[in-house]
Amino acid sequence: MSINIHNISKSFGSFAALNDINLSIKTGELVALLGPSGSGKTSLLRIIAGLEEPNQGSIFFEEENVTKVKTKERNVGFVFQHYALFSHMSVADNISYGLRVRSRKTRPSKQKIQEKVNELLSLVKLEGLQDRYPAQLSGGQRQRVALARALAVEPRVLLLDEPFGALDAKVRKELRRWLRRLHDEFQVTTVFVTHDQEEALDVADRVVVMSNGKIEQVGKPDEVYEQPNSPFVYDFLGNVNIFKGRIHKGIMNVGNFELNTPEFTDKEETEAFGYVRPHQMEIKRILDNHSNAIESEISYIHAVGPIVFIELNRVDTQEIVEVELTKEQFDELKLKEGERVFVKPKDLKVFIPSEYTI
Ligand code: ATP
Repeated sequence: MSINIHNISKSFGSFAALNDINLSIKTGELVALLGPSGSGKTSLLRIIAGLEEPNQGSIFFEEENVTKVKTKERNVGFVFQHYALFSHMSVADNISYGLRVRSRKTRPSKQKIQEKVNELLSLVKLEGLQDRYPAQLSGGQRQRVALARALAVEPRVLLLDEPFGALDAKVRKELRRWLRRLHDEFQVTTVFVTHDQEEALDVADRVVVMSNGKIEQVGKPDEVYEQPNSPFVYDFLGNVNIFKGRIHKGIMNVGNFELNTPEFTDKEETEAFGYVRPHQMEIKRILDNHSNAIESEISYIHAVGPIVFIELNRVDTQEIVEVELTKEQFDELKLKEGERVFVKPKDLKVFIPSEYTI
């Protein structure tokens, strides 16, 4: 089931929580809505679910305009962060709840319901726990029951609002991998709200980055991480070095460092900021004649598996520069803390403050 979101706006009183949102989600896609607190993720999810009515715009499931269709007729499955399971019901009864409350005409037989529960228990890896009560489960197990319950009604769309938010980091990681596998098996179109960058980049087919009720960027995880189209996305999605400098007729200067910026050939002198991720930086011990770079002193080296994180201080401004090298690159350079070297961005994205809110 594809979801098409057209010109959705939502205000609470005079506060605009969503501002003209347009987004197309393909059938079977797993999409993460990612943004800081208050950016409008939950409001958008609730509008897709029909729990909230937009002030403007429409929601389509395939060709069908569902904007005015009630939640229970949209056939969506939900899981929320603190999804209260029915505490007086066993795991099996929680999972089958949505099927048991159906009208007589559409309710499956007892035997069919039992088969479905067994199938879901094995899918969410909770075989043998059907007679337990929620209080006898761990947080991660409860969230898996919540997911099984959402899937029991064979929803056209699965909506997850910070489903693993309350769990500790290790369980979160396990569950999100598991969710990815589950999704690949079921192929239900899934929209997933999170404020955790790593979570979004790790599981989603596409990430929708939101800020202040607007979509900042939509793309595959590596696109939004490697090629942010705004300072906000650079900052929000990971570590970034920001070099303040000046641009004049297609040349940007950051201290001694000079960079050709052909897209700004017509620009008269103005302040500019260069954004670059740590893994897009290189370190040189000696400069050849044609290149120039920013002299810096290594203040900290920290290796994590195959990646080596290096923190340096610029000699000219004392500002911190972060560089990520592979173990091989690092070993070749034989770097040590306290040494002076030259750092150079391999790829710098330039923003002019008057054109963006930095
Ligand atoms: P979080 O990660 O904190 O849940 P979010 O990105 O999901 O944030 P929303 O819950 O969609 O953000 O809220 C967006 C904005 O709309 C917030 O500023 C919030 O205070 C406001 N808001 C949401 N629901 C209501 C409501 N029912 N009444 C008034 N304001 C609301």
